[in-house]
Amino acid sequence: MTGKKTALRRALAVIAPWALGLAAAVLAACLGWTLSTPPEPPVEPGSDLVDLSAAPEVPPEPEEDSPGALLDEPTEEDKNEFLATCRRIADKLGSVDLEDCTESDLQLSGARSVQGTPILVAEYPPLEGRKPLGRVLLFGGIHGDELSSVSIVYTWLDMLEQHHSGLFHWRVVPLLNPDGLLRRESQRMNERGVDLNRNFPSPNWEVEAPDYWVRRTSRNPRRYPGEAPLSEPESRWLHEQIETFQPGAIVAVHAPIHLVDYDGPPEPPEKLGPLDLRKMGTYPGSLGRYAGIHLGLPVVTIELPSAGIMPSRDDQRRMWIDLVAWLRENLPKQEPLRTARLKETAAGTAAGMER
Ligand SMILES: [Zn+2]
Repeated sequence: MTGKKTALRRALAVIAPWALGLAAAVLAACLGWTLSTPPEPPVEPGSDLVDLSAAPEVPPEPEEDSPGALLDEPTEEDKNEFLATCRRIADKLGSVDLEDCTESDLQLSGARSVQGTPILVAEYPPLEGRKPLGRVLLFGGIHGDELSSVSIVYTWLDMLEQHHSGLFHWRVVPLLNPDGLLRRESQRMNERGVDLNRNFPSPNWEVEAPDYWVRRTSRNPRRYPGEAPLSEPESRWLHEQIETFQPGAIVAVHAPIHLVDYDGPPEPPEKLGPLDLRKMGTYPGSLGRYAGIHLGLPVVTIELPSAGIMPSRDDQRRMWIDLVAWLRENLPKQEPLRTARLKETAAGTAAGMER
């Protein structure tokens, strides 16, 4: 963050004042006081907040390691649209200042929501002289009413801006569902009422996703999977990122279940800061089912404790340090496992088996 906010404001994820009743505001303020944090300890040089002394020193792979190149130089029109989008996000989120967005490495991705709102993305590419341990796709705000899941990604963007060392190649998307967040009353679903996290093309989606929605959720509108897999521009774009960027791991931020969930190989993180591992299982059309189980990609799902109140600065930082440590340990193991898994999946599909 750019440091203009007080500790109290940082502790709130929050919601423009009109969105809160007076009582909720008072409660949040009280929590803000209890969560206000001591001054941050100095950060080790080297980065992504982790000591890099053991990282392999090999020349970077040139073109091959920058798949799915992002936009060219922005035009004046792009710049205006970027600024307008940042303004709407900063107006909505108490923990995000306008300059947290405008002065970040975010840019237009070229993708748009149903309503035409740009989806912003930041890229932290390989640095000269250091081969990254792997590619990581990190995103928040797939559910528009989970405000803290967007705000915390801005905090982590700020960490990367200060400390990106080339340890990993990051692609970071703070807000995948802008229409869900940026409406007067934020909602989980996108503009067309689709739960984007049920819209990914897991095997047998056409039967399982509608069936699950009807029988298991009693047509809960908050869980509506859509008409077809990837029917929505937001899920379609994220799917495209998985295909073109080919991440070795995906980190998805949600709230408010207060845990770490995990799908895919090999070893899940037991703990990320104050969050303990508790595996929740997957649903037809969820990213965990599609990317974790079907593609065999590690999917780390961070469920923050509250959708409207940010974890303390210290907890945000501890989560990041634990995440980077886990990635550092596990990402290099992914490639052989993934290859084996894909062969297995292909063989299973050929034999008419469905995982
Ligand atoms: Zn969620």
